[in-house]
Amino acid sequence: MIYLDNAATTRVRPEVRAAMDPFLDRDYGNPSSLHAAGRRARRALEDARETAAAVLGADPKEIVFTSGATESNALAIAGVAEAHGGGHLVTTTIEHPSVLAAFERLEKQGWKVTRVPVDSAGLVDPARVAAAVTPKTALVSVMLVNNEVGSIQPLPAIRRAAPNVVIHTDAAQAVGKVPVNLQDADLVTFSAHKIHGPKGVGGLWIRKGTPIAPQLVGGGQEFEKRAGTENVAGAVGLAAALKLAGPGRMAELRERLRRGLGAPADARAPHILNVAFDGVDGEAAILALDAAGVCISSGSACASGSTKPSHVLTAMGLPPDVVKSSVRFSLSMMTTDEDIDGALRIVPGVVERLRKISPVSR
Ligand code: PMP
Repeated sequence: MIYLDNAATTRVRPEVRAAMDPFLDRDYGNPSSLHAAGRRARRALEDARETAAAVLGADPKEIVFTSGATESNALAIAGVAEAHGGGHLVTTTIEHPSVLAAFERLEKQGWKVTRVPVDSAGLVDPARVAAAVTPKTALVSVMLVNNEVGSIQPLPAIRRAAPNVVIHTDAAQAVGKVPVNLQDADLVTFSAHKIHGPKGVGGLWIRKGTPIAPQLVGGGQEFEKRAGTENVAGAVGLAAALKLAGPGRMAELRERLRRGLGAPADARAPHILNVAFDGVDGEAAILALDAAGVCISSGSACASGSTKPSHVLTAMGLPPDVVKSSVRFSLSMMTTDEDIDGALRIVPGVVERLRKISPVSR
């Protein structure tokens, strides 16, 4: 199997699994318990927090562990909104569904939401973000790396253009791939399973002093910002994954894949390559490639299964037939030369065959 769907999720690295193992078995205590087993779990959890903070360049007290990027996004957006009370919010048209839906919910509750459009490269204009901000704006949320096309938003310029507003960035696809600079935001979302950690754990960095209301209440864990018994093994896995994360040879392998498939050059994240196979239905290509042993996807796993055209490619102004024929290849640190060689051996033939048997009308 050639796995090129790493933006959807990645394989857990053996080192990560080994780091987690003791906390699923021997040291299974609840970090809130006073006894030795509990204290060992607490120590592991706080060590994981320190490691995560060190990798991100943060203070450990600013790290809240969550169940993943979806929850981190919900906490950041609904939490800052709730603490603020009411008013206006700014985001973009190409966010992940977990962000889009959080804003739709707030809009139903009476918030005004401005969605800044993107250009044909999938980039927002910092001046347009700044122009959208009013004295009533509680939060600006702009993702750092887009999960469908890999465009990298100009967060430093957005921060400079709108210096007095709270900024959240969904960095689930950015951590370990492109630099994440905390000075560009006040809240940063990250997730373990995009960087060879386990699914179901992530974190939110919250700059000290940022007003935020917890969305899960109860036991007061995670500095009263996220109740629920901590996922100790998950947090340990997340920290181990963060420590090992890095772009490695992704950019070079992506470039080889891009050239081999004849896709145009771009300036995008090193792990995501979105290509349109002219005259071929994207969904049909995904299924045919699966049958040939190559795993890829359309934009987002969360949106697949539905035949709805990609909101990201549509927002970039691509014509409907191009949107329909687009697929996403995505790499990870574990992607090899052999994976790329194999894909380049298999994909062109499959695409050619599809073009003959089920051409998309243009
Ligand atoms: N944001 C982005 C940009 C993503 O790519 C994903 C994963 N598809 C998520 C959020 C959701 O992450 P999780 O699966 O950890 O909830």
